[in-house]
Amino acid sequence: MNPKASSPQGKFPRQFSFEFSAPKSDEAIAKLGRVHDKLEALKPAFYSVTYGAGGSTKDGTKQAVLDINGKGSLVAPHLSFGGDEPAKIESLLQEYKDAGVRRLVALRGDIPSGIGASVTLSYASDLVKFIREKTGEHFHIEVAAYPEVHPDSKSVETDLAFFKAKVDAGADSAITQYFYNAEAYFRFIDSVAKLGVDIPIVPGIMPLTNYQNLVRFSDNCGADIPRWIRKNLEHYQDDTVSLKAFGEEVVTRLCEQLLAGGAPGLHFYTLNQSLPTLNLWRNLGLPE
Ligand code: FAD
Repeated sequence: MNPKASSPQGKFPRQFSFEFSAPKSDEAIAKLGRVHDKLEALKPAFYSVTYGAGGSTKDGTKQAVLDINGKGSLVAPHLSFGGDEPAKIESLLQEYKDAGVRRLVALRGDIPSGIGASVTLSYASDLVKFIREKTGEHFHIEVAAYPEVHPDSKSVETDLAFFKAKVDAGADSAITQYFYNAEAYFRFIDSVAKLGVDIPIVPGIMPLTNYQNLVRFSDNCGADIPRWIRKNLEHYQDDTVSLKAFGEEVVTRLCEQLLAGGAPGLHFYTLNQSLPTLNLWRNLGLPE
């Protein structure tokens, strides 16, 4: 059996994209420009830039987005209400529109630690509705998907239903939280297809380059690190070269499985570095 043919996602054209974390200083903005220039050789469909829902990186996001856009690359700002007045979000949408930005990643966001209960977050579906209301079809809207279930969800069923609500509100495509178990992605695809969801859902790929950071981040966002991967990373944690070699092999295999199974591309979490993405790209034999 050809697995690509059996996946409901196999019919969508493949698209490869790169995510940057919003820079927090002038130095970080300059570094991101250099990373962008190196990755540009791979001609991604677009770059995306994260957004701190609690306010920590909002200016950095806009600056990075305008810089990348100014270099002629397609770029998708991440966006959340993040406790802001709708008028503020509307004016940011207008700024992006005026700059020629055509794609957004609409999120509820998370409250950064230290900001606490002073910010009330709005669901991503409300933001998607708002963007459609204010800007019609101008933006291609991406939303987040969770093959391993979002950590705040009451059940798998409600999580799937709320994902569908984002699509019904007007999302055009989705990017997943990272995962290391391809089966979770394919099951998620089958489950949402049964609910009538028919948009590209691109796997988010997190390179394995650092043990401590990955464990801390994964515990927060609900991504599972399979025991055998965790144990190997732990074993290699003081040997960066072996850890990176192990991580690259594991993530390359994951990407191969996903693409062979019909995933409509890959979205790389670049960690604001060019090398992890470049290495995966070359291992996969993708065109340069
Ligand atoms: P939602 O889709 O709103 O869902 C959040 C939770 O609420 C889920 O458990 C869902 O099941 C539930 N839910 C949804 N609607 C309802 C409803 N009507 N009633 C009750 N429950 C509901 N975070 C950032 O802060 N900045 C970023 O730039 C950023 N980029 C990301 C990019 C990607 C590709 C991904 C996968 C995640 C990103 N995140 C980012 C993390 C994301 O913001 C968090 O995972 C956040 O907790 C949920 O955001 P969401 O948009 O998926 O939320």
